[in-house]
Amino acid sequence: MGEAVEQERDYLIQLRRHFHKHPEVSLKEYHTAEKIEKELDEFGIPHERVGETGVTAVLTHNSDAATAKKIVLRADIDALPIAEKNQTEYKSENPGVMHACGHDAHTASLLGAAKILKAQEEVINGTVTFLFQQAEEIGGGAKQFIKAGCLKDADRVFGIHMQPGLPVGTVSVKAGECNASVDYFKITVHGKSAHVSTPHLGVDALYIASQIVVSVQSIIARGLNPLEDGVVGIGKLSAGNNYNIVANEAVLEGTTRAFNETTRAFLNQRVREIAEATAKMYGASVEFVFQDYTSPLVNDKEAAAEVEKLGVELLGRDKVLTNQPKYMLGDDFAEYLKDVKGQFLFVGSNGGAKTSYPLHHEQFDLDEDAVLIATEFYVEYTKKIIGKR
Ligand SMILES: [Zn+2]
Ligand SMILES: [Zn+2]
Repeated sequence: MGEAVEQERDYLIQLRRHFHKHPEVSLKEYHTAEKIEKELDEFGIPHERVGETGVTAVLTHNSDAATAKKIVLRADIDALPIAEKNQTEYKSENPGVMHACGHDAHTASLLGAAKILKAQEEVINGTVTFLFQQAEEIGGGAKQFIKAGCLKDADRVFGIHMQPGLPVGTVSVKAGECNASVDYFKITVHGKSAHVSTPHLGVDALYIASQIVVSVQSIIARGLNPLEDGVVGIGKLSAGNNYNIVANEAVLEGTTRAFNETTRAFLNQRVREIAEATAKMYGASVEFVFQDYTSPLVNDKEAAAEVEKLGVELLGRDKVLTNQPKYMLGDDFAEYLKDVKGQFLFVGSNGGAKTSYPLHHEQFDLDEDAVLIATEFYVEYTKKIIGKR
């Protein structure tokens, strides 16, 4: 670990624990944003709100305006509606809310990086824009930062995510497709109730919904090119009021996942068509609600090579993995990568049994060395891109 980061060890860990103790769900990150602003004030870095609970800060030091560059660093700050099962001294104090995705670590690391970069600002030539982004878990936060112009004229964008599937001390760098798109759909089937003994007098929404559940899987099995990756998942189905009444309504909720926009559009279109056609076939109607949560996350190859090289310098060749599988999970860091070259880096956070639970698990925890490693990457990648030459 670099000396500057090592010197901030206590600060970083105390900060990460503060956020862990006080988690707030998406779009409600009010105290989190205030804490971030308080720290930025201490460092002397000006900041602004983006939306109600996002914070952006800008550090500019131009030693040579002609060659100055801009890098954007992002951390997501929201927690999840999960009741924490861990019994640590930094356990969540907000009942039913938990930092189970490591965003507490991301936020602390980026603040640590801001502190270190401010202290060393004479070595940079250009602008660092820090994004403390709200609402990653529900999609939408990233789009607000883009709309606010934070990515304008940026040369690189860089983000990190804790990865409990990898040992602490390792990182995973990926060029190209990395995370899937995430979209949401809700299908309401409107039928007609009747006594089950007279099905011909009703329109069975439950039966039709069941047909839809089965039929949409044909999109993957028969519709999608087998060389493409995709998921259509339905996680929720509710229908019916009583065992002997034909259900007049059924509600399905699900999601599609893909690694490129063509497949994404195809899956979403086919889900809708199959739902509508199936309902029509049986004399029912459907209401279709669709929300695009996040785009496929595709890392730039050049940026991936830069981060890989940096990783080898910082951690050693064997600690930098480049062969990790793609994830069907999404992250709205994807939106930034549509406009600017960059990398979404996975930082191993597994230091043994207690820190081996997957993301979003009620016992998720991380090896805090990962916070220092993340900080180091934020700082050193910034210096690589906009360091004084
Ligand atoms: Zn998450
Ligand atoms: Zn996350």
